[in-house]
Amino acid sequence: MGGSEQAYVRQAFDTNWLSTVGPNIAAFERAFAERVGLPAVAAASGTAGLHLALRLAGVGRGDEVFCSTLTFVAAANAIVYQGGVPVFVDSDRATWNLDPDVLSRALRERAAVNRLPKALVVVHLYGQSADMDPILHACAEYGVAVIEDAAEAVGTLYKGKPAGTLGDVGVYSFNGNKIITTTGGGMLVSSNAGWIGKASHWSQQARDAGNAYEHSELGYNYRMSNVLAGIGRGQLEVLDLRVQQRRAIAFRYRDAFAGFAGISLMPQASYGLHTNWLSCFLIDEQKFGCSRDELIQALDAANIESRPVWKPMHLQPLYARAEQYGGEVAEDLFRRGICLPSSSSLSLEEQMYVINQVRRAAGAGPLTAEPEQATAASV
Ligand SMILES: *Cc1c(COP(=O)(O)O)cnc(C)c1O
Repeated sequence: MGGSEQAYVRQAFDTNWLSTVGPNIAAFERAFAERVGLPAVAAASGTAGLHLALRLAGVGRGDEVFCSTLTFVAAANAIVYQGGVPVFVDSDRATWNLDPDVLSRALRERAAVNRLPKALVVVHLYGQSADMDPILHACAEYGVAVIEDAAEAVGTLYKGKPAGTLGDVGVYSFNGNKIITTTGGGMLVSSNAGWIGKASHWSQQARDAGNAYEHSELGYNYRMSNVLAGIGRGQLEVLDLRVQQRRAIAFRYRDAFAGFAGISLMPQASYGLHTNWLSCFLIDEQKFGCSRDELIQALDAANIESRPVWKPMHLQPLYARAEQYGGEVAEDLFRRGICLPSSSSLSLEEQMYVINQVRRAAGAGPLTAEPEQATAASV
């Protein structure tokens, strides 16, 4: 937490606005909208926001929707909530995000047989924006709506603009593990004022005006609570600090591993600001001295939690029958990618412990005990 969250939460308690209506929600939406430059609707979760986004894009039963294969499952599930059929698209090795060339080829093939998808869900992974210009260009050419899953990209920039604001609709997450959190929550943004109104309406059970509990449309209980919006207001005040902290952690790992072969930080595309929400590395077993899985086990034995990168959707039992374009790059990133401890509350001492355990797994001595040069040479 940043410090002012409890004051906003206390206001909610003091004024008895504890439900899904209240001044914190309006203020959080306003502050977020100012930050990204587009109107915003606060939701109960990023997943709820994605579901609303799919419905706004007109996705319905049987509609095919392209989706980044290397992502967390919520991105694909939201397609299915709308009765849509996900079709997975491979990653670009240079960004780990959706490959614009694979996308263009897939759209061209689909156009030729009159089977264009209704929409694309493009994910901005681990705090790095996808290469949006060619993606938007390809989708505009074929009239495919673009939904940005910016759940992991709060604070991320693409060519100076916030990731999540470049397509038709964007969705952010404030889940407990994300760069800022409301414990659970999300935000939907769009330049389409009509869509913003609809998303807000649907998220509140789609109750018609008047007090008669009349409903003309299907709605959901997807609104953020005024208590949690209070946490969000405080968190937004420290977003830039959190971005700096996450980047500092990632670059400290990178620098500490600079003398090592076989361990490399996730690429930092030059077109944007990568928040490095998670510090992700790729392991080359031959050069590093052990495999990614062996590294995870060695860290676990030292009481350090690390994780593989997301398991691609086309490898999930849930989506075993889905169509896909490519997939080999995402599979390789999944097999060799590791997320190291990345919390902004990670102390320097704790991070040095992690760094030294990684060095140990690769057969090198600790950084604190030997000069960098000698250690690097001994690997
Ligand atoms: C976290 C996450 C979501 C879901 O957000 P919630 O707020 O947890 O529902 C969706 N997509 C991606 C890529 C995520 O990382």
